[in-house]
Amino acid sequence: MKDLVSIIDTKKYVGKTVKIGAWIAGKRSSGKVAFLQLRDGTAYFQGVIVKAKVRDDVFILAKHLEQESSVIAVGVIRKDKRSKFGYELDVINLELVGESHDYPITPKEHGIDFLMDHRHLWLRSRKQHAILQMRNEIIRATYEFFNDHGFIKIDSPILTDTSAEGTTDLFETDYFGRPAFLAQTGQLYAEAGAMAFGKVFTFGPTFRAEKSKTRRHLTEFWMIEPEMAFMHQEESLEIQEQYVAFLIKKVLENCDYALDALKRNKELLKKYTKLPYPKITYDDAIALLKENDFKISWGEDFGSPEETFIANFFESPVFILNYPKEIKAFYMKPHPVRKDVVICADLVAPEGYGEIIGGSERAVELDYLEEQLKIYHLKAEDYEWYLDLRRFGSVPHSGFGLGLERVVTWIAGKEHIREAIPFPRTLNRLFP
Ligand code: ATP
Ligand code: MG
Repeated sequence: MKDLVSIIDTKKYVGKTVKIGAWIAGKRSSGKVAFLQLRDGTAYFQGVIVKAKVRDDVFILAKHLEQESSVIAVGVIRKDKRSKFGYELDVINLELVGESHDYPITPKEHGIDFLMDHRHLWLRSRKQHAILQMRNEIIRATYEFFNDHGFIKIDSPILTDTSAEGTTDLFETDYFGRPAFLAQTGQLYAEAGAMAFGKVFTFGPTFRAEKSKTRRHLTEFWMIEPEMAFMHQEESLEIQEQYVAFLIKKVLENCDYALDALKRNKELLKKYTKLPYPKITYDDAIALLKENDFKISWGEDFGSPEETFIANFFESPVFILNYPKEIKAFYMKPHPVRKDVVICADLVAPEGYGEIIGGSERAVELDYLEEQLKIYHLKAEDYEWYLDLRRFGSVPHSGFGLGLERVVTWIAGKEHIREAIPFPRTLNRLFP
């Protein structure tokens, strides 16, 4: 319907008569006036219907409209300081398009399971809408950032014949009579891409059959995995922090309305755009934790309480460098001096959001990797193609993986990762 104006564009039409296709998000009315909360997917704003100024049947319709009925409203755009959106519609005419009765999600409080069971409808609610608008901006800004920095996107396969990292948390499926696995990462393929194109990134869904029931884990999540040839870790860390700061800047610039809907502290977000981010080695982090009464010993991985403490200590995203080799993937470059650690870093977000990036410089030597495959009990023949990358012009290279939903959850200031993706998949949820 080409003559319809989007709510988000109405500011261009002040004083003009426009036609809007919308759903009724909510309604208040008295005998003389009805206030309709209109949403059309682009934004929410109010339509005002004064009984004395419209035909009787229009006012009667307005009074009887139930939540989520769809309408076409004709009216005049007016600037209004009291409105959150800044503009309102003085409705002249209203036409019913689709009826709605007993819409299940009402303004009253609902439990999370109920809302998740109605996720297909919950998406229409203001806060969910705001989170997913931000997600869209972060996706858009990701393409912009990597395009501006000379990366090309390559798509890694989702069906694979082995695990990339040798964990057991894989979803298995039947592939014409033999097992196949849903990719848990695109990293090894990204390395092949970097050797072909220099700087690449993958951006796709990844799958982990993790039985962890935390507020940070999904079984299906989207990952951005840049990989850069002729690059050492220090330079990769610079790209990582610039990328994260860029995402925050773009959300601040382009999602003001969504940030307000979520009551997100924008000053705090602004602080996270200040670079460089602090860095602490794993060794120093262990010492810091011990000084603060954590019971942890060298060699153990950090869980949520440890990550939260470290990032809160710095009040900023912080890189934790050079973890013990034992707890990291087989392909990471060993430290030239300290043989028990690898050249890697996790970027941990403040406010308790935990790890948002895991990255490393990659081992370049064929012999070393062959040895590593044995240590990690990975079948050499499955990795022959990967070892070819070391046989034919191996170069220093680095890369990282950023979890889209972790970042969306953090920037949106939400409690739980399940709201950062349209249809979450978790240990207990595969529906709708
Ligand atoms: P964690 O220790 O937090 O479970 P990880 O170290 O297993 O994460 P990586 O393999 O380093 O994760 O994956 C890279 C990034 O992908 C992480 O930094 C995180 O942002 C994201 N990520 C990893 N697992 C999940 C998950 N189950 N759900 C959502 N995002 C995830
Ligand atoms: Mg990690």
